[in-house]
Amino acid sequence: METFAAIDEIVSGGQIVLAADDGSVFATVREAIKSGRTETFYLPRAQADAIKVWYWSPTRIREAGMEPVSPGEKARIESELGVKCTGSAYSNKLSCECGGTYGAFEFLQQGIREHGKDMVEAIFAMKDASVIRVNPNNSAICVQCNQRMLGSHYYDYRNYGCCAETLAS
Ligand SMILES: [Zn+2]
Repeated sequence: METFAAIDEIVSGGQIVLAADDGSVFATVREAIKSGRTETFYLPRAQADAIKVWYWSPTRIREAGMEPVSPGEKARIESELGVKCTGSAYSNKLSCECGGTYGAFEFLQQGIREHGKDMVEAIFAMKDASVIRVNPNNSAICVQCNQRMLGSHYYDYRNYGCCAETLAS
């Protein structure tokens, strides 16, 4: 019955809860990516991991410029932002005309600025759920000049990931 109380609470906030078998969830997420619609999925970890493995094909990894976040950048994330970053994390780097760059550190910094540190930490602390952001519509803001940056930033860490239809399949 607890499940229904939890569902009731989510739905009362105006969100939907979708229950479906693995294959249907996979198809739903894939269609959302292709459609270009902005949607956020909270999925069991195994389903999200399967989607990430499918989505991050060698072609997409290359096209987005995804690279492992370096130990130095992880250390900076922990010491300067106070957010734990252990295990594998992947990110691309965007360059601004002003010379500023935007990677995992700047992404988390912007996330904390816009949503608060508690929310960022709460997402990564979820034990069973993963977040897959499909076609996210927020732009990377350059730390140096405060302008929206061209290009999309991608971050993939633990139970968080994003997928956009702009990358070739
Ligand atoms: Zn800039």
